[in-house]
Amino acid sequence: MHPAPVPLREQLARPEAFVVAAELVTSRGLITADSSRRVLELAQALAADPRIDVLSITDNPGGHAMLSPDTLGTDLISRGQEVIIHLSCKDWNRNALESRGWKLGSEGFDNVLALSGDYPVTGHRGLAAPVFDIDSVGLLSLFSEMNEGLPDERRQGEHLDRTHFFLGCVATNHKRLEREVMPQYFKLRKKAQAGARFVINQIGWNARKDDELLRWVRREQLPLSALANVYLLSRTAARAFHAGKIPGVVVTDELLERAERHGASPDRGRAFFLDLAAKHFAVARGLGFDGVYLGGHMPASTFGEIVDLAATFAADWRALAPEIHFPFPDEFYFFEPDGDTKLSSGELNAAYVESKRRRKTELRVPVKYRVSRRLHGAVFADDAPLFPAGRAFYGAVEKSKAATKLAHLAEQAAKVTLFDRRDCGDCSLPDIAYVCPESQCAKNQRNGPCGGTRDGLCEVYDTECIWSQAYERLKAYGEEESMLDGPAIVKDNALIRTSAWANTFRGRDHHARLDRDIREPDI
Ligand code: SF4
Repeated sequence: MHPAPVPLREQLARPEAFVVAAELVTSRGLITADSSRRVLELAQALAADPRIDVLSITDNPGGHAMLSPDTLGTDLISRGQEVIIHLSCKDWNRNALESRGWKLGSEGFDNVLALSGDYPVTGHRGLAAPVFDIDSVGLLSLFSEMNEGLPDERRQGEHLDRTHFFLGCVATNHKRLEREVMPQYFKLRKKAQAGARFVINQIGWNARKDDELLRWVRREQLPLSALANVYLLSRTAARAFHAGKIPGVVVTDELLERAERHGASPDRGRAFFLDLAAKHFAVARGLGFDGVYLGGHMPASTFGEIVDLAATFAADWRALAPEIHFPFPDEFYFFEPDGDTKLSSGELNAAYVESKRRRKTELRVPVKYRVSRRLHGAVFADDAPLFPAGRAFYGAVEKSKAATKLAHLAEQAAKVTLFDRRDCGDCSLPDIAYVCPESQCAKNQRNGPCGGTRDGLCEVYDTECIWSQAYERLKAYGEEESMLDGPAIVKDNALIRTSAWANTFRGRDHHARLDRDIREPDI
């Protein structure tokens, strides 16, 4: 009989807590296959190691099909191990995710890391179709509502049993440009509002950015415990990250050069990479993170080695911080640097504050955006002077099928020409500064950017990320800070191929639904 594990939420709530999580990546094939057996043996060895507090199992990382994390997790839970299950939206629609939620909750998996997920890169007989029916914020919102008890559709006024999920999210602030970094921070705020209670940052080797993330969490008073991502690098991994093969993971030229040099040594860089990970661990602990998230290809003994080596660096963590400093040469920061430590201060970046004051943008703000927002304010916004006339017009139009069709065609002609929109019927153009998430975002992200941008460009398409564009457009009006305020936006697929204008005026789209129905948990 194994002892009951201490739940992650209790571990993180302890004063002076410092939690060590270890990442497990499942393999492709049956649990009985050699590769799966190796992962299982690694997991069992880590579960037996008192230095490791929780095991975290990935969900089809990098857009590949792998063994489901629950399969490995079930064995670990039965051994009394605390587990985090990653759950991404790329392969499942909202019903499948809810169903997964019931399954996970029933089997004792309470810790769920909610992700939008990497875009699929492979698939059986061709590329798999991405789903992205909802995104990470939508998933957090769904599971938060499951925690409150979802309405029972069969019994009016009654609710289903509550789940007990402890929800986590990822933040990706190791980015180069202001228009990438700031939307990531705003999205983190939104994830916390949607129910996230812990955050793991994306892999990156820049302690100043790690520090900045913590400072953002505290500045915004977000109810989040933060785990720093500490990855055991290798020459092979450094090359892959530098080449952008894993979306959102950054290895700069300087770090690659270091990895190449040490990787060519007789120990293939083992001592250097181990030292780097242990110092990163010690600096994260010194900065005040609530734990670390250890990842990388290594045997169980090496996880423990990093923990032990980090303990020897603990007293000197501040002096070691400059060794975890591999930024882009022109990387953006929200805060000014802190003297020689190469960490963050609490003082806002003066150049950023000045650019905000002057509403200075890096991208050109198109005229069609300026015109569209005027039109929105005059006609489509709830309080627009012409909104009542629009409602009356569509009320009359919808009495005739022919008139409904004609009005829809006219709307199509205008919006396809201007915005390349896709007739989803539940329009988010006003939410994203008139950039269409259906046609221009590979993941249909309606609640902020995914973590995959590179120099402002989309992870999938060769175009500027829709949220980078939106940030710049809104900054020109001093509105960028509130770009992700409000509850989670979830598209209603029942409205596909219907008139978005009619749905706005007649109160059927998400704007009206949010006003009516959706209550987010207080933070
Ligand atoms: S447009 Fe932005 S949010 Fe959408 S998939 Fe590309 S990088 Fe991600």
